[in-house]
Amino acid sequence: MSEASQLLVRRIKDGTVIDHIESGKALLVLTALAITGREGNVVTVALNVPSSKHGKKDIIKVENRYLETSETNKLALIAPRATINIIKDYKLVEKRKIQLPDSISGIFKCPNLKCITNSGEEIRSKIDVIDKEKLVLKCRYCARVISVDELVF
Ligand SMILES: [Zn+2]
Repeated sequence: MSEASQLLVRRIKDGTVIDHIESGKALLVLTALAITGREGNVVTVALNVPSSKHGKKDIIKVENRYLETSETNKLALIAPRATINIIKDYKLVEKRKIQLPDSISGIFKCPNLKCITNSGEEIRSKIDVIDKEKLVLKCRYCARVISVDELVF
């Protein structure tokens, strides 16, 4: 992290730092992780932080919560380049990349309005990743092939 970024975002004692989020995506990341602020712990969101690698980036620091791999992998379609840093007692104890899961349940809606998952019944969406390189997705219920741009929260 550059000196300027470090000054902008204070170090945390315990928790999770999501770094290198594509600029402008931090709020989507919070939505996907269901972090609302009502949990009571300190959450710091920094938007458009200068980054040596990608121009600008967003950073989220969630204090006193260690995000699980299963949670952070949900970010694969939103912030694929993000890195997850788990901090314990000011030390970096784990650094991981986000991996695209084989399927994603319940975060995105199927863009097909006639899909049973949009019918108002209590059916969670289930979207399979059929091509991880080209990011081709498919609804398990209606078999609609979905591109990342079509995903709706
Ligand atoms: Zn569908």
